Amino acid sequence: MVAEHEAKELLREAGVPVPRGVVVRDMDFAPVAELREPLVLKAYGPEIVHKSEAGAVVLGLSRVDVPIEAARMLASGVAAEGFLVEEQAPGGVELIVGLVHDPGFGPVLLAGLGGVWTETLRDTALGLCPISEGDARRMLGSLRGSPVLYGLRGRPGVDVDAVVKLLMTVGGSGGLWERLELGEFEINPVIATESGVVAVDARYLPAAHASNGGQDGVIDEPADLGPHSEPTDLGPHSEPTDFGPLFEPRAVAVVGASTTRPNFGNMFLEFYKAAGIPLVAVHPEAREVGGVPAVPSLAVADVDYALVAVPAERCAQVVREASGVPYVQVMSGGFGEAGQPELERELVAAARAAGTRLLGPNCMGVYCPRGRQTFVGGGLGPAGTVALISQSGGLAGEVIKVGERRGLAFSRVVTVGNAADVTPAELLRWLSADSETRAVGLYLEDPRDGRALYEALAAAPVPVVLLVGGRSAQGQRAAASHTGGLVSDGRIWQALADQTGATLVTSQDDLIGVLAFFQAHGARIPRTTGPDGGVVVSGGRAGSLGAALAGEGIPRGTTADFRSMGALVIGPSGGASVLAADAFDRAGVSLGPLPDSVLGELRGLGLGAGSSLANPLEVPVGPRSGPDLVQRAVEAIVRHRSYPDVVAHVNVQSFFTYGTRAEPLFEYARALAAAQDALPETRVTLVTRNGECAPPGVEDEVRAIVAAAGIPVYRTMEAAAVAVAAGGRNGTA
Ligand code: ADP
Ligand code: MG
Repeated sequence: MVAEHEAKELLREAGVPVPRGVVVRDMDFAPVAELREPLVLKAYGPEIVHKSEAGAVVLGLSRVDVPIEAARMLASGVAAEGFLVEEQAPGGVELIVGLVHDPGFGPVLLAGLGGVWTETLRDTALGLCPISEGDARRMLGSLRGSPVLYGLRGRPGVDVDAVVKLLMTVGGSGGLWERLELGEFEINPVIATESGVVAVDARYLPAAHASNGGQDGVIDEPADLGPHSEPTDLGPHSEPTDFGPLFEPRAVAVVGASTTRPNFGNMFLEFYKAAGIPLVAVHPEAREVGGVPAVPSLAVADVDYALVAVPAERCAQVVREASGVPYVQVMSGGFGEAGQPELERELVAAARAAGTRLLGPNCMGVYCPRGRQTFVGGGLGPAGTVALISQSGGLAGEVIKVGERRGLAFSRVVTVGNAADVTPAELLRWLSADSETRAVGLYLEDPRDGRALYEALAAAPVPVVLLVGGRSAQGQRAAASHTGGLVSDGRIWQALADQTGATLVTSQDDLIGVLAFFQAHGARIPRTTGPDGGVVVSGGRAGSLGAALAGEGIPRGTTADFRSMGALVIGPSGGASVLAADAFDRAGVSLGPLPDSVLGELRGLGLGAGSSLANPLEVPVGPRSGPDLVQRAVEAIVRHRSYPDVVAHVNVQSFFTYGTRAEPLFEYARALAAAQDALPETRVTLVTRNGECAPPGVEDEVRAIVAAAGIPVYRTMEAAAVAVAAGGRNGTA
C-alpha cells in the first residue's frame, strides 16, 4: 500500500485540496511549528491499515501535544514507521470517493456518504469511468442522503460544484483513474463544506498490492467467474466486421448431420429446409443427408455461414477447413463452460487461421426472417425492427416465440454462447447502426466484456433493453478498502444502464414488454407542450432524456416539466385505478394533474359526476358504456396538455360477466385506436386486465385492432408501467 502522504501528494498534483502537513520519521517534530492548530497526528507503517481501529490517529492537538501523543502511540504498540502531522480541517459532510478496477468492467468510481458511517449507511453510487459531469450530478442526486449535500431544514448545503469537480478529477475523462495502476484508490473521508472540499484521508493500493489484503485480515480473491470466462490468449478480433451476411447468408452449410442416427445437425437441417434457404450438408461419405446435397468438407462448400454440430474435440479441425466461409457457428458444447478452456483456445486459433469469424461455441445460432436464418422450429415469423443478442440460446428461442405471439417482429436475433470470438459488444455496435433495427434487447450473464459493452451502449443511437441473468450471484468481492467492499457487479450493471440510457429490466417478460413498447412507439416523437403552449421536449436521440435528466443536452427546467407531465392513466373506477397509480409510482412515472382548463369539457362528457376528476381519470368502461367515451376524453385532455404517454386500462372480465358479447370490447379497442390515430405525438398504451376471463381468441382480436394503430398491449399494470418508464427514459426512441 502507498503511504497516506504519498497518496495525498497524487491528489494535490491533480488539484484536489488536501490538508497542509509534514512527515516525521525520526521523532523530530520541529517542522510542526509551520502548521496551524488544531492538528491531527497519524502514524503510518505497513501494518497500519485502518488507522482509527489501530489507535493510530488523534485529532484536536496543539503543537506541544504532538510529540507526547506520538510517544504514547509507540508505547501502546502502534507499529509506526513514521508520522503524518497535518492541519485539522473544519467539520462538514464526510464523503467517500473511491476507485476500483473491476475484472469485467474496468475502472469504476464510487461516491457516497463516508467517514465512520460508510459501512453502516451503505449509501453510495457507482459510475463506470470515465464519468461525465452529468453522471457525477446524477450519482450525487441518487444518494438517499443527498439532502445533506443540497441543504436540509434551513441548514445550508455543501459546495456541490466542488464535489462534482472532485468526482471528475478522480473518475472523469483524463482523471486520476487513467494514471493510477488500480487496484483500489480511496478518499475516505473528503470533507465537504459550504466553501469547498478537503481530502483528509487517502489510500492507494496499486494493482500488484491490491490483492494483498492480508494485513487487513481480508483476502482479496479474484472474482470466480468460472472456466466460462477463461480468456483466450489470442485477444479480441481487431477489424470491424460487416455482420450482414451472418444474418442474411447466400447459402448455409450444416456440419454433423447423420445419415443413420438423427441428431441436432439433422434437426437444424430440417429448420433450414423449412425456411427455404439454399443449403448444403457436410458429410465425409454421403452424397446427400436428409434430402440435402452433401459435400465432404467446408473447404468445398460455397456458403456464407456454416453450422457445426460435431463433438467438441473435432470442431477445431472442421473450422480449420472453413477458410472460404466468413461465419462459422459452433453449436457444440464441451468447451470453456465445461472446464475445457484449451479446446476453446484451439477453436479460436483455428478460426483466426481460417480467416473466419466464430459464433459460439455452445450457441444456438442466428434468427433472421429477412435472411431465412433460423434455429427455431415452427417456421419464420414476420420480419421487423427488433434485434436481440443473447448469451443463452434457450432464452432467445423463448423470446422469439413468445415475443412473436405478442406481436414482436424481429430484424435479427443472435446468440453468442461462450462468445469466444464474436462478442455481444461487437454485435451491439453493428446492430445499433443497422438500418433494419430500431431497438435492441440484450440478455447477458457475464460481465467479462463489460468495458467494450459500456462503450457500445454509450454509442448506441437506438434504445437498448438489458436483462442480466445471475446478478444476485455476481456478488461483492472481498477487498482491502471500503470501496472494494461496496462495489458489486450487480450494482455496476445498474450504473452501466444509468450512464448509457439503457433500460435494465428484471424479467424475460419485461424484456419482451419493453421491446414491444419501442417497436410500437419507436417512430413517435412525444411532443410535450406546457400550459403556455411552449414545446418542452421533442426530437433527440435515444437516451437523450436520460442525458437531460443528468443535466446534459436539454435544459433542466424543461425535463422537469416532461417528468411532471408523465402519463395520463384512464380506466374504470375503483381499486384498479388506485393500484394503477401505485404501479406507475413504483416505476418512477409521474401522473401529472389534469389541466383545470379541460375539467368543464370532461363534465360535459358526463364524467366526474359524484367523483373528482383526477389522474388516474376514472371513466365508465364496460359492456354498457359508450365505447367512444375514452376516445373523446383522451383527445380533449391531450388538446389541453400533451402528456407524452396515455395508458388506458380495461377490466376484460367485466365484459363477460355483465355482458355476453365481445363486440363492446372490440368497439372500445377501435375507439382507442382512433384516439391514437388522431394523436400522432402521444404514445397510447393499453392494459387488458383479467384477460384470462375472455373466450379464446378475444384477446388476440383486441391486440390486432389496437396493434394496427401502433398501440402495445400489456396484461398487467406493472408490465405497462415498466415499459412506459423505459419509453420515458429514452424520450424519443
Ligand atoms: P482511518 O485510517 O481510520 O480511515 P482517517 O485518516 O480517515 O483514518 O481519520 C479518521 C477520521 O478522522 C476521519 O474519518 C476524519 O473524520 C478525521 N480526520 C482525519 N484527518 C483529518 C483532518 N486532517 N482534518 C479533519 N478531520 C480529520
Ligand atoms: Mg479514513
